[in-house]
Amino acid sequence: MMFNKRPRLTLLAAALACSFAAGAAQAAATIVINNANAAGVGFNDATPATPVGGNTGTTVGAQRLIAFTHAANIWGATVTSAVPIVINAQFRPLTCTATGAVLGSAGATQIFADFPGAPKAGTLYSYALANKLYGAEISDEVGPQINANFNSELGKANCLTGTSFYLGLDANHGSNIDFVATLLHEMGHGLGFQTFTSGLTGSQLAGYPSVWDHFLLDNTTNKLWVNMTAAERVASSLKPAGLSWTGARVTAAVPKVLSATPQLRLVGYGAKQAASLYAVGAADFGPAIGSAAVTGEIAKVALQADSPGSACTPFNPANTASVYGKIALVSRGTCGFTIKVKNAQNAGAIGVIVADNVAAELSGLGGADPSITIPAVRVTQADGAAIGASLSKPNGDTSGTVGKLELSKTLIAGTDSQRRITMYTPNPYESGSSVSHYNTSARRNQLMEPAISADLTHSLTVPVDLTFELLKDIGW
Ligand SMILES: [Zn+2]
Repeated sequence: MMFNKRPRLTLLAAALACSFAAGAAQAAATIVINNANAAGVGFNDATPATPVGGNTGTTVGAQRLIAFTHAANIWGATVTSAVPIVINAQFRPLTCTATGAVLGSAGATQIFADFPGAPKAGTLYSYALANKLYGAEISDEVGPQINANFNSELGKANCLTGTSFYLGLDANHGSNIDFVATLLHEMGHGLGFQTFTSGLTGSQLAGYPSVWDHFLLDNTTNKLWVNMTAAERVASSLKPAGLSWTGARVTAAVPKVLSATPQLRLVGYGAKQAASLYAVGAADFGPAIGSAAVTGEIAKVALQADSPGSACTPFNPANTASVYGKIALVSRGTCGFTIKVKNAQNAGAIGVIVADNVAAELSGLGGADPSITIPAVRVTQADGAAIGASLSKPNGDTSGTVGKLELSKTLIAGTDSQRRITMYTPNPYESGSSVSHYNTSARRNQLMEPAISADLTHSLTVPVDLTFELLKDIGW
């Protein structure tokens, strides 16, 4: 998911007269949806629809609006502001390929610095947050605080073909995309889950840091973004797991929300010829690592003549005999992860290691298939080669390398050595995704990761999710 950064910088004079809201704490905020679609399309799509998952709308457009209202109510019950939050929203074409799509994009429409109530001086705040902190409408050009777009092409040819937004309110989306989760994510950006500083060029907007930048730490140089040069920000944006969020709210909540880091431990003869401990990326499907002990011999799956890629077709007798009761080692590529893992499961494997087919930073295994019952993990190309080389068959037909899929006793997934959550920092830089999302290695999966995960709930709060904690860190 991406978001637009289209802020119009409005700097208010510090001396602006104002009257703050009464001191009584409000328990909620009012969120108003401004449907910006033309008649007949997007939120006004009149195509008949069958009520689904608690959504009683009878047209596609009505169901989309009901889902939006549902998501707005969840946020409205979470954040507090005396000023109504207006979201301008429309369906329109966004970036697509046959296998991927930008689901939505959202951001603040205006930003403000140095207003009465701003916690930090000389610092940019998103419109909705500035209104909350100021206690009244802050802009002299009053308009929606958030602009949000949703992809009108999803499911069409060459746009994640065959999927659609699930419009039910119960998260029971199956293999489709949960629209309520998408809405919650994009609203999170609009409320302030974004920096206005470019990680691509390092430039601050109008020479001001964003409040975000006060909490973003390069964990190798120990410098905050707010104190860095532009060049240092560019460099830090590309460090794998190199940018940590230092906010006290998020950091205190990390152990309550995120689980231990999954890892692969090698034991037995083969382990002597390779490192014994490997970092792994977890799968979005199948049982979580650590939910049950999985220990077994590792067996490499041979490329079959009838298969266009590793483990992409049902296993032949030789591969079946090789992996039965064992952990299958396969290569990434050609077909989806769930296809490979399902083929291995059908052949009797008890787990799967997917070795990357390109040199890249470790990431997880995406996909959904509720029929998968064995755990799967991903390793880097280099680690896959090392594990493969350790399968030396010293005892006839056994590989000699036993793998154990387990949880670390010291490390928390998605965090640095001091258990601070890390942000998404791929190389090359991804405009709209880098820096302004949590790292994809966080487990459980977080709403504010750059790509939607199938197992998301609709919670924004501890012990499920760290979205609201971050917003509290920046002033909500
Ligand atoms: Zn996003």
